[in-house]
Formats: sequence, structure tokens, C-alpha cells
Amino acid sequence: MQLHKHRCVTRKVGSDHPLYGKTVYIPDMAEGSVEALCAALRWIGLAARPTPLSDVHTLEVGGKHTSGDECFPARVTTGDFLKIAQQPGFDAKRTIFMMPTTDGPCRFGQYAPFLRKVLREQGHGDVQVLSTHGEHGYSDFKDFDNAFVRTAWRVVVAADILRKLLLQTRPYETLIGAADRTFRDSLADLCQTVEQSCSNSACQMRSLSDSLLRARARFHSVPARFDGHRPLIGIVGEIFCRLNNFSNQDLVRRLESQGAECWMADIAEWIGYTNAEEARNLRLAGRNYSWAMIKSKLRSRVQFADEHALRSLFVEDFEGYEEPSLEEALKLARPYLPFPGAEGEMVMNIGRSAYLALHGADGIADISPFACMNGVVSEAIYPKLSRDYAGIPVRNFYFDGQQSDLDCDIGIYLELARSYRGKKPRERVYPGRFSRRNVEMAAG
Ligand code: SF4
Repeated sequence: MQLHKHRCVTRKVGSDHPLYGKTVYIPDMAEGSVEALCAALRWIGLAARPTPLSDVHTLEVGGKHTSGDECFPARVTTGDFLKIAQQPGFDAKRTIFMMPTTDGPCRFGQYAPFLRKVLREQGHGDVQVLSTHGEHGYSDFKDFDNAFVRTAWRVVVAADILRKLLLQTRPYETLIGAADRTFRDSLADLCQTVEQSCSNSACQMRSLSDSLLRARARFHSVPARFDGHRPLIGIVGEIFCRLNNFSNQDLVRRLESQGAECWMADIAEWIGYTNAEEARNLRLAGRNYSWAMIKSKLRSRVQFADEHALRSLFVEDFEGYEEPSLEEALKLARPYLPFPGAEGEMVMNIGRSAYLALHGADGIADISPFACMNGVVSEAIYPKLSRDYAGIPVRNFYFDGQQSDLDCDIGIYLELARSYRGKKPRERVYPGRFSRRNVEMAAG
């Protein structure tokens, strides 16, 4: 007999909250993830929107306010934020631009101060720039409680899962556009679910799981023919450029249209890495037994449990696409970038590339902004990594907003991947939706 009937309640922030009545804009970095994060903000009663889709005007406006020395994502995000500021009726006092930051080894830490400076110069100094810090796993949302931080993490993981389903299905669809439509429908379902979800953590988890199971059913009904003909290309690289279709000129779609399937590194991977870095830095500072360390460990543990709960709904779908654990990726990176001297995205790029080679990928594509420090260091290491892993082809694709003959480069690269495929030492594991007969026929 049920003694206490659960009643769903969603707690909203009140008008005394410092962000109440304002609109938070988040850079539209990754298809799906940013919409889901905005839904999490609406869940607590705040208005939130992704920045409008990037376009030629983004580059014009961003280019006008950057010198050319900044990294390409700084130009894109600055352009997109300034486009909002140029809209009629723009109210700086009621606007918040979210721009995370870090102390890390590269220029990312300069994005938020740079944005503040440009806004001031353009007479929009009243715009608040909200910066979560990579040093705390991007969890230091000032003015937000733990419930929001946990929900934000859950939606990031859920959106990663939807993107993974999309990338696994789209190359094999027999009805053009069906996988993209399914992705959009599932994302709308996820956003609505999170926005209406209960403040009780377990109850919210049930709703999110149900939403993901509905997405799973939708993807299963996409008309598709899963065969083993397509080379599997692992996608690594700088997080913004890798995930932002505008910045990378839709590289994944172009690879797919020339016959590949892509397996992309998730956003959750990077947040997991920053959590581990936080713990490492506390240890190095002699703060092993500190409140900060307890908080960091607790957060990592809770996040890991939530991620595991959501991903475990997809064990069969993701067979052969299992994500490396952080420890595994770091261990694989260590021969190339010794701990603790090297840190940042390059470590995850290298570790994941080795992992992909060990799991039957036919090639690795690194997507990075032109002159990205992480991309340049990774590029210097790839030839050795390729030699160590039976000659797997690794190709850097750099982007700076200029047009290039990308399709021709992709064609040449995929030829290398196909030729490696015939001689690679490790076969990939295919999930059950690939029939054995089709896979064997493809293998010849
Ligand atoms: S990761 Fe690369 S592109 Fe991003 S801020 Fe650092 S150097 Fe620039």
C-alpha cells in the first residue's frame, strides 16, 4: 500500500533572484545541447535562448570587433552576441550572455573578458556576462542551487545521447531527412520534459528516462538499412569547432554524404575531464582533505551515477560505441603527453584517438580552429600515434571561416580510410541492428 502519494512540484526562482526578468543567451555551440540547457533554465523560471543561428553576418560583425589574433570561436560567439545587441528594442539591462571560462593552458580564458570589453566599447556595458569556470567542472553557477546544476548535467548527457543516436542512424536512413526530423522531435520532447519536470530528483530522472526511451523508439522506426559498407570515422578536436556545424562547415554531414559514419566525442567527456582536473589541482595544492575536495568528489560521483543511469538505457544501441572511461583515455594519452605536464583538450584528443583505433575505427578526423593550440599540439603527435596503431589515417581539418575545397579533401581522406579498413588489425563491433549478413557482405 502506498502511504505517501508523490505529487510533482517544480520550484521556480522568485522575483528576488538576480537573474529574474532577464533573458539568458547561450552560444549555440552544439546541436541539441544548448536548447536543452535553455530548457533547464526555464525549468527554474528563467528566460533562456540559444544565440540565433550563425551566418555570414556573424562573421562580418565578429570580424569587425576582433583583430584576427583571436581564436575562431571567439569571433563566432562575439559576432552572434553582437547580432543580438543590434536587434531593435534590445535592452542591455535585461540581457545576460553566458560565456564559460577557464584558467587552462590556452586562450579560452580570454573569451569572457574580451566579450565584456567589446560590449563596453559598443555601449552595451550593462549586459551581464555570466561565466561558469572550468576549474570547477563548470558547476559554479553563481546564483543557482545544486538542483539546477544537477539538472543541467542531466540534460547535457541526454542531449549527447540524442546526438549519438542521430549520428548512428542518419548515414543509413533510406528516407532522406527522417533521422534529422526524429532528432528534432526527440529534442523538443526532451526540452518539454525537463521544463515540466518535478523538483524531486528521482522523479525528474524517471521523466528524463521516459523521454529518452521515446526517442529510442522513434529512432528505431526511422526507415534505414544498416550495412557494413561505411568507414567509421572518429571525430575529435576542439570542443566548439567540432560540435558547431556552422564553424566546421558541416564537416560531419559532408563525411556522411561521401559514405562515412562518424563517432563524435561528447560534451560530457570534457566536463568529466575538468572534474578530474579540479581534483588533481586540489591534490597538487596540498588540499587533499578539504571541503573543496569533498564537494568535487561528491559532484563527480553524482554526475557519474546520473550519466550511467541515462546511458544504461542504450546498452544495446551503443554496443560497439562504448565511451572510454576517463582513466582509460588518460592512460592511452600518457605515452604521448606525459602526466602531469600536459593538460587540456589535447590530452583527451590523443587518448580518444588511440581508443578509437583500438575499437576498430577506420580513421580519425580532428576538427579544430585554425592555429588552435590544442589542435597544433595534437597534430604534431598524430603521425607517431598513427604509426603505433597500424597506420590508421588521422587528418586535421582546420577552420577559420574561409571557404576551402573541403569536399575534395574529404574524398582523398576517405580513400585512405577505406584502404586502411582492408588491413586494419582490429575489427569494430557492430550493434544488433547491423545484420551479420550485411556486415559480412561488406567485408567481402
Ligand atoms: S582550445 Fe584552441 S580554439 Fe579554443 S580557445 Fe584554446 S587555443 Fe583557442
